[in-house]
Amino acid sequence: MRITVVGGGVIGLLTAIECARAAGVDRVDLVDAGPIPSPTATSNDRLRVVRALHRGEPALTMAAAQAHVGWMDIERLVGSRFYHPAGALTVMPEQDVGAELALLTAAGAKASALSPADLANRYPWLRFPAGTGGVLEATAGVVLSDHALVALARWLGSLPRVRLHPHQRVVDVSQNDGAATIRFADGGFHTADQVVVAAGPWSRELVPAAIASDLTLYRQSVLSYQPPAWPRDWAGMPAALGLGPARDAWLMPPVPRSDAPMRLSAASACRPVTELSDRVTPNRWREHLVGVFAELLPAFDPAAVVDSTDGYYLAERTRGGPLLATYGAGRVLAYAACGGMSFKFAPQIARTIADRAVGTPPRPTGLDSIDRPRLLAAVGEE
Ligand SMILES: Cc1cc2nc3c(=O)[nH]c(=O)nc-3n(C[C@H](O)[C@H](O)[C@H](O)COP(=O)(O)OP(=O)(O)OC[C@H]3O[C@@H](n4cnc5c(N)ncnc54)[C@H](O)[C@@H]3O)c2cc1C
Repeated sequence: MRITVVGGGVIGLLTAIECARAAGVDRVDLVDAGPIPSPTATSNDRLRVVRALHRGEPALTMAAAQAHVGWMDIERLVGSRFYHPAGALTVMPEQDVGAELALLTAAGAKASALSPADLANRYPWLRFPAGTGGVLEATAGVVLSDHALVALARWLGSLPRVRLHPHQRVVDVSQNDGAATIRFADGGFHTADQVVVAAGPWSRELVPAAIASDLTLYRQSVLSYQPPAWPRDWAGMPAALGLGPARDAWLMPPVPRSDAPMRLSAASACRPVTELSDRVTPNRWREHLVGVFAELLPAFDPAAVVDSTDGYYLAERTRGGPLLATYGAGRVLAYAACGGMSFKFAPQIARTIADRAVGTPPRPTGLDSIDRPRLLAAVGEE
């Protein structure tokens, strides 16, 4: 069996790895429009948070509780270190802490409750609104995502059944005569028994219009923050979410022995856009985030904002999350929308996509839009 994966972001790389490990697969080809990994991939950033708690969402929390182990397993498989299990702190009104802790405990995550006094003592570098408590997940952390992609690509490329094809832009994916065919921008083509499309925010160009029209593109600005010397009490800092009066700001902590700066953003800096363009943060959005974090970090120093970048992701229009679809007589599987949280789920998502591609019973992720993919009878027809 021959499987071709289009897209070398975290989903494509891990799916190719899972396919290459499956029985009965003779050949796996991974194609990317850029280098592998590509610097423009959404996944190819400095840090990504892995955490379980999604407030008020038991199914999502249950699924995300597997993500911590998923990333540790991937590290072991490829023999490289890129997951920093620093924990994740979610802050919330004090009266909500008990219920959210119970949700995490039921999901099998290790977590503890923090009172307003605990928060003030442990995290003096953060400002919390009055009456704020928190839940600290121990089985959570951050992935050095750019390091992870390099390690995954290197390991994948070393497998005898795998071929990597950088700098090959795919312009069309179709099915005929019992095979799936991908066509390249240079006019060449390639056939396989199964094609997996994992083109991140570019997937609208490759999936049928019936799917593309259901996707919304988002653009999010993020600040890189790196004071000349880290205050001592910032050591061992977890990822922190639910910050600020709107409870929508987050920060990714510095990682010891890494040059990755802290990353600061908020849902208020995420907006729907029509087109993918550059990654340069417009001044207005940079200033917006500087204003948010000047309120949140008592010792905030605007001069320590060393950079800012914008990232993109597609989300399914009605539910706002990821979307898996299958079409082309079942020969094409498209991870059409990656949503704003696929990185942490990538080991689980890749495993289930690979199961479907090789024809074994798909291992459930717990994410409804992945476990029950959208089926298109034929291109253009649902
Ligand atoms: C600012 C920001 C912060 C985020 N933070 C988190 C977080 O903390 N935790 C979390 O879990 N998730 C987070 N996410 C979401 C997560 O990063 C994405 O869901 C995930 O990285 C998507 O991975 P992907 O492999 O689907 O896509 P990508 O990483 O974008 O990879 C797609 C690849 O496909 C290639 N490609 C595209 N078109 C073609 C073509 N026509 N032919 C060939 N190749 C093509 C591209 O070159 C690229 O390499 C965040 C997203 C953003 C924008």
